Amino acid sequence: MNPEQRKQALDQIAAEVASCTKCPLFKTRTRAVPGEGHPETEVVFVGEGPGYNEDQEGRPFVGAAGGLLNELLKAIGWKREEVFITNVVKCRPPGNRDPEPFEIETCAPYLKRQLEVLDPAVIVTLGRYSLGTFMPGARISAAHGTSRPTDPATGAPSAETYAMYHPAAALRQYSLRETMLDDMCNLPEVLTRSRGRRDGTNMTAAVAVSGPAAVPPEVVEPVAMPISIEADTVQDATLDADPVHDATLEPESMLEPAVAGGADEPQLGLFG
Ligand code: URA
Ligand code: SF4
Repeated sequence: MNPEQRKQALDQIAAEVASCTKCPLFKTRTRAVPGEGHPETEVVFVGEGPGYNEDQEGRPFVGAAGGLLNELLKAIGWKREEVFITNVVKCRPPGNRDPEPFEIETCAPYLKRQLEVLDPAVIVTLGRYSLGTFMPGARISAAHGTSRPTDPATGAPSAETYAMYHPAAALRQYSLRETMLDDMCNLPEVLTRSRGRRDGTNMTAAVAVSGPAAVPPEVVEPVAMPISIEADTVQDATLDADPVHDATLEPESMLEPAVAGGADEPQLGLFG
């Protein structure tokens, strides 16, 4: 598939999601949230389902959890527009309740089709529900920071699945931010390894396959980028201006007062 065909295929899926009535979540949604990102990316993040802000905007991870996700990406020099971000259910469960198994199952074909189009090298699961889709039976406390080959039945036959906690969990429990940062810092290495497997190059001798990196992101070198083309020209200004850190926009905000409103120096707020 060429880039234009990929984009069209993703737009087609998004259009179907926008008017989908296959499960009861359509009744209470404001807008469906198909997902967004770079059609040529090698890395797809899969969350649980839209929250309040996502339901309002029709875009994934634009609330407080999205703010933390953006920070974590920035820590490894990645930008959210270079990856693809979506969820296991595309419509908000009312009151942010957990999605029901029936809802996940009914929505799954959209995610599968997105993955078939994107053919990513790495799927990053965010939280338990996404983990359950890609590593059935795994426990997040043990699986986070580890990767394994993805079941081809998910639509991503040559991807590694890499498990992470959900950023919303890290907003509730401060210590998980450090864990998420460590796990994020290992993601470029997982990408490098998956690329090697995809081109038939054995990278396992060349990279350490150990647990969370102890090194800060500044010294993680070289960092594999989530798309294989030059993508470094976009400035961060639009991301920094994104109202994700504005706690007043997040009625169910889990940001603590001490870290809210830190759009100018978000890293201090979230990791300081
Ligand atoms: N939490 C999720 O799981 N997905 C979103 O898009 C936003 C918050
Ligand atoms: Fe359709 Fe998925 Fe929304 Fe249910 S959650 S209505 S299956 S798009």
